[in-house]
Amino acid sequence: MRYRLKGALLKDDLVERIVTLSGQSLFACYQCGRCSAGCPVVDEMDMIPSEVIRRLQLGQVEEVLGTKTIWICASCLQCASRCPKGVEFSSICDALRQTVLRRRLSKPQVDSDEVTPVMVSEAPQLGVVGALRKLNG
Ligand code: SF4
Ligand code: SF4
Repeated sequence: MRYRLKGALLKDDLVERIVTLSGQSLFACYQCGRCSAGCPVVDEMDMIPSEVIRRLQLGQVEEVLGTKTIWICASCLQCASRCPKGVEFSSICDALRQTVLRRRLSKPQVDSDEVTPVMVSEAPQLGVVGALRKLNG
């Protein structure tokens, strides 16, 4: 598919907010694909990490906000360790999830009332707290 780049798109407010929230240089990415190639959960994603970044570069934020990818990323930092430009994709996912949650585009996915004592005793406490924070903002 061919895209026509426009300066206004590249200065999209939402893209700038993602850059600010994530602290990452989105436009440093030159699409080498190493992040996607090394991601251990890429098969579960509906948009690979390098494509997420490319779409953000093109101002296509809404398409990215609706992906499963931003929730699937496990923040393992494997991609960051492979990126020749020092881009930390997990921080971009953090910023995208925050954007979704702040705009209330999705309902909280884990209700704290549903966390039962059995779940707390059998699941790692860190995992339960991490899921509540990640999925509910
Ligand atoms: S590894 Fe870095 S430069 Fe390469 S595609 Fe991924 S984010 Fe972009
Ligand atoms: S931080 Fe996320 S995108 Fe990067 S390798 Fe790990 S799971 Fe994949």
